[in-house]
Amino acid sequence: MTNLSEIKITGIQTFDVRFPTSKSLDGSDAMNPDPDYSAAYLTLQTNFLHLQGVSLVFTIGRGNDLQLSAIERLAIKVKGLTLDQIFNDNLKIYMDLGSDSQYRWLGPEYGIFHMARGAVSNALWDLLAKANQKPLWRYLAELEPKELVNVIDFSYLEDGLNADEALEILELARDSKQVNISRAISEGLPAYTTSPGWLGYDDQKMLQLTRKAVEDGFKLIKFKCGLSLKDDRRRLSLVREKFGKELLVAVDANQKWGVDEAIDWINELKEFDLSWVEEPTHPEDVVGHSQIAAAVAPTPIATGEMAGSRITFKQLLKLDGQAIVQIDATRVGGVNENLAIVLMARKFKKPICPHAGGVGLCEMVQHLAFFDAVAVSGFKNLRYIEFVDHLHEHFKYPVEIQNGCYQAPKNPGMNADMKESSVSRYTHNLDKKEML
Ligand SMILES: [Mg+2]
Repeated sequence: MTNLSEIKITGIQTFDVRFPTSKSLDGSDAMNPDPDYSAAYLTLQTNFLHLQGVSLVFTIGRGNDLQLSAIERLAIKVKGLTLDQIFNDNLKIYMDLGSDSQYRWLGPEYGIFHMARGAVSNALWDLLAKANQKPLWRYLAELEPKELVNVIDFSYLEDGLNADEALEILELARDSKQVNISRAISEGLPAYTTSPGWLGYDDQKMLQLTRKAVEDGFKLIKFKCGLSLKDDRRRLSLVREKFGKELLVAVDANQKWGVDEAIDWINELKEFDLSWVEEPTHPEDVVGHSQIAAAVAPTPIATGEMAGSRITFKQLLKLDGQAIVQIDATRVGGVNENLAIVLMARKFKKPICPHAGGVGLCEMVQHLAFFDAVAVSGFKNLRYIEFVDHLHEHFKYPVEIQNGCYQAPKNPGMNADMKESSVSRYTHNLDKKEML
């Protein structure tokens, strides 16, 4: 293996990649009727031609150029760094990416600059894992507990998780790590699918796709909901009628309701024995989530895909606002911040069921789930990783699903690498009219 000090970031490239998914209503839900799945795509070149750090931020179309602009402004800060600096000074570099006080005004620590910071963090971790010739999940799992704790920013977090607690969690899991790695490779991790459940699909298409998903081995399927109680009840009745009680069913309101409305609506769906209700209300309304969770118990509440930072997760966990923690690979500050969230979820004994889909999210977030299974919470915990069967053909190392399970990724890195042909074909030329 090449010495890390000899590998240096020499250039940065970004691409505004957009897929016209709104034409088929793929991805349609109660709040997002016509998404064009897009990637603000980042590559960090090195002095080794075939070694690049790659990541992306997922958006749903308009504004992808704004996201990209934020990424460009932060990524320039890592040009010239060597990989041994990136490893040894990791937290300092991560903190520097969030330290511009004038950009911070646009957050703090949420929104497009924070996601841009996440894009750079993810690309740096991708580069480290690739240089060490390991898939990211395994690279992270094989770091020393102390090395992992040393890359976490505990500011504003210590009343939820402090460094000693994080270290203790990782030390406790250390002995079973090798056994867990073997198990992850042989068994994979359970997936659930949302592919049949988009709100724009009619009943026939929904049932047809549900049948296919069941035949493909999925045990849990999620359906979008929240526009009309009558429609939700009809769709869930049809699913229960055709597929019985054994099929695990979750629903996702994508933030459609107010707090009181959510409580009433969810209680009207109780008979369907839902595995969880996702994003009942605004993602930052922590107190609202807590009230909803208490009022609809025992129906579990899931959220997190649009929670802006570790601080929101901390509040959700402390106030019992979520039974299921839905991390997202590109919403928060990258691997550095997601490590904090994964460890905090473990402390509060809540399972991680990552959000995925979009474009590239399955490829990226699976690494965090495998890391959690192997080095943090083990295999006893309920864990389903979201899977949506769209756009994987554009990736060099697409996810592998067998019999309803994610297979442990084998290729080095975080697997956000898109095919060059897809990047060039779907690169968006910004039309001035879009900005009016
Ligand atoms: Mg969702």
